[in-house]
Amino acid sequence: MYAQYPLKFYIGGNWVAPTSDAVIPVENPATGAEIAQVALGTETDVNAAVSAALKAQKSFRQTTPADRKDLLLRILSIYETRAADVSKAIRDELGAPYDLAYGAQTGVALGHLRAFADAIDQLDFEHNLPNGSSVIKEPIGVVGLITPWNWPIHQISLKVFAALAAGCCCVLKPSEVTPLNALVLAEILDEAGVPAGGFNLVNGDGQTTGAALARHPKVAMMSFTGSTAGGMAVAQESAKSIKKVALELGGKSPCLIFADADLDAAMKSTLSKVFGNSGQNCNAPTRILVERPIYEKAKQTASEIAATFVVGDPQKRGNHIGPVANARQWHHIQSLIQSGLDQGANLLIGGPGKPDGLENGHYVQPTVFADVTADMDIVTTEIFGPVVVMSPFDTEDEAVNFANDTDYGLAAFVHSADKGRVDRLTRQLEAGMVFSNGADISYGSPFGGCKKSGYGREGGVYGIEEFQAAKLVSC
Ligand code: NAD
Repeated sequence: MYAQYPLKFYIGGNWVAPTSDAVIPVENPATGAEIAQVALGTETDVNAAVSAALKAQKSFRQTTPADRKDLLLRILSIYETRAADVSKAIRDELGAPYDLAYGAQTGVALGHLRAFADAIDQLDFEHNLPNGSSVIKEPIGVVGLITPWNWPIHQISLKVFAALAAGCCCVLKPSEVTPLNALVLAEILDEAGVPAGGFNLVNGDGQTTGAALARHPKVAMMSFTGSTAGGMAVAQESAKSIKKVALELGGKSPCLIFADADLDAAMKSTLSKVFGNSGQNCNAPTRILVERPIYEKAKQTASEIAATFVVGDPQKRGNHIGPVANARQWHHIQSLIQSGLDQGANLLIGGPGKPDGLENGHYVQPTVFADVTADMDIVTTEIFGPVVVMSPFDTEDEAVNFANDTDYGLAAFVHSADKGRVDRLTRQLEAGMVFSNGADISYGSPFGGCKKSGYGREGGVYGIEEFQAAKLVSC
């Protein structure tokens, strides 16, 4: 048992029965076995959750920022006592290996909670303008939150805790692939004393449950993380009632490695960002562009480093990679690997099929393709698995053009010893986030993209501001 009431929804501070018998099976991707079932929320269930949130919103919007900071800190202390339950759920429903599930996958929520609590102190909830008027930053209203499965509690934390920090009551529809950790979180929020209706959870799929939330005329804003196709559908539904929409979508992030970089360190950092979490990282540097003088050496280094990544059972301790989340994802990755071979890419390591001895789960071999061209499917399409592509460039301009030649704009990575060049490129790359020489994102920084990666910002002050509306006061 992962959570007390897997077949119920958390609405208005109570665990309530769904209005339909429809269920969604939850699978362990390492074995293919069904480990639980959750209820599939109907439009009626979503309406009940929105009604509860609207009722609670009247008083929750009156709470002070200090009240809400205390609430986040209470959630933090209860979360610490339930962290092992969240980890177990993430290990078994996502297939995240033990050390990852019990480490970063669960721990991120604590980092986000601390960063949002600090951000409350940094925010001006009211301020005067030089023209004599003033502005109140109010909670936007009841918000609908839809999340994916790849870093499940991370994405839920970025939305739920930011909404509560801003003073917004919310309805969460987590991914149907990883709903169990969200049920544990609902128990945590209940124990922490989130007011009844402040947080509501309805499980279900995108087409039925997610669409009903996006369509609801009284939901003031939708915050969505997931595929570009899902984001477009939510934005279209939301447009009918002129809702604000924040979108965090897919990516195909470039990584520029110059001849003056520490090649070994650059490749280790890049491949661990791509292969970690079985390649299911939206901001992963999956398109490696290498300056020509070191390109052949880079191919050899990439092959050697990729060979050190081990794939294995999530139940075991260690730094290995687990399976990908489900059969649909596995087939998507396999068909792209096959397309790489068919379209003439040079396979350096990995390839189609499962690693030896791991035939039961949805396991993928860490794969590196080199000598790719801009028109290949493995270069243009988000693979969302442990697959990376490499190609050479001759000039800085050419590197920037290759990097920006994508529909996506989530992250970009630069490796160079020349600080002037790093600064120059940072301003030219079309991405919401630029990381240089192996740097990573810190709690409280704004996470988000541009182009078809969406335009929302999550984390810290920027994440709370997404859920606020500015009210002009002129007297
Ligand atoms: P997905 O779009 O299939 O599903 C994401 C969520 O949206 C799920 O809860 C799903 O039920 C819901 N959904 C799907 N269609 C919907 C619809 N028509 N209306 C309402 N809700 C709908 O994505 P996924 O497969 O769960 O996640 C992988 C994708 O998420 C990748 O593209 C990845 O890059 C992206 N992602 C982006 C970020 C980011 O911050 N930019 C972070 C993580 C994942």
